[in-house]
Amino acid sequence: MTYFTDFKISEPIKKAIQDMGFEEPSPIQEKAIPAILEGGDVIGQAQTGTGKTAAFGIPVVDKVTNEPYIQALILTPTRELAIQVSGELQKLSVHKRIRTLPIYGGQSIGHQIRALKQGVHVIIGTPGRILDHLRRKTLKLDRVHTVVLDEADEMLDMGFVEDIETILGQVNTERQTLLFSATMPHAIRKLSRKYMSHPKTLTINKGEVTAPLIEQRYFKVLERNKVDSLCRIIDSDDVELGILFCRTKKGVAELTEALQARGYLADGLHGDLSQAQRDVVMKKFRDSSIEFLIATDVAARGIDVQNVSHVINYDIPQDPESYVHRIGRTGRAGRTGLALTLVTPREMKHLRSIEQEIKMSIPSHAVPTLEEVV
Ligand code: ADP
Ligand code: MG
Repeated sequence: MTYFTDFKISEPIKKAIQDMGFEEPSPIQEKAIPAILEGGDVIGQAQTGTGKTAAFGIPVVDKVTNEPYIQALILTPTRELAIQVSGELQKLSVHKRIRTLPIYGGQSIGHQIRALKQGVHVIIGTPGRILDHLRRKTLKLDRVHTVVLDEADEMLDMGFVEDIETILGQVNTERQTLLFSATMPHAIRKLSRKYMSHPKTLTINKGEVTAPLIEQRYFKVLERNKVDSLCRIIDSDDVELGILFCRTKKGVAELTEALQARGYLADGLHGDLSQAQRDVVMKKFRDSSIEFLIATDVAARGIDVQNVSHVINYDIPQDPESYVHRIGRTGRAGRTGLALTLVTPREMKHLRSIEQEIKMSIPSHAVPTLEEVV
């Protein structure tokens, strides 16, 4: 058995890990931390919620010094994730004097330029905005020694491959490149062959796509009763925090309104909101002042909120990979979670292709009757 104290990392980082309440490394951390400390390129594949952020975060903050230049660059698919990863790195480096800065679209570029001028050691950003700064010459990456592609599969899904290639082309080739992903599609292997040198590939739980602690169920519903069916399901279950997925922004807005009208503490998250509005919604969800977050796939990517007891696919995802990402928002860090999917008769074919992808059949449950609702 490995403990965090077994790793060759400095005392301030060990102390921070202890402050964070991490007792033992997760399987991907156990493998990736020593491999990254050795200095070579590393590819880490593990299910969602298994601690990939700290798997690269610990060795990265350990290696970064307080010399006044940007030493590490972490690319993430979304703004929310950039903020989240930056927060985790800040916690890991509280006993060390280094600065991390999230850089993402939707936030004032002037603010970011001023923050960059203050001196930053680690940048965590979305590819589009990083590229924007590179073009304006407000960001210099020539002394970066470590690059991390976090949630690489999601970045590729979102069409960032060209941006990533342009950015990697501007960083010293003598760098250490790390890539983390829940799935390893062909496009990622291709990217790694082009931009990584002899990477060590670490895979956890190959073949098992979804985390074992997530219990999955589906409910047959009729399109015209969908909201009522949903309400019965959530009323008859003990929901701590729930994320509800809709297919479109319009769907998010409509369901948010319908739930608010019925007195649920719910708010929506989608791409048409300003960054400030999105931050407010996420904050309300994190501190439990709302119980339900209603979101599109894009808005919810990579989000890690503690205590999400339920992920509900109000609209079944069209593609099976998106199902895996969605339900990965629950069952995190050793907790159990429920993943519920509403399926209308004409959507049964989507359910079957999801079952094929995850190599298991999802049990069907009946929508609770009015009497069963607490
Ligand atoms: P992933 O990127 O693999 O989806 P995250 O890095 O977001 O997962 O981690 C999921 C959650 O697990 C986070 O809340 C994180 O703080 C927590 N976590 C990470 N490592 C540990 C650990 N060793 N012990 C306990 N909790 C951990
Ligand atoms: Mg992650």
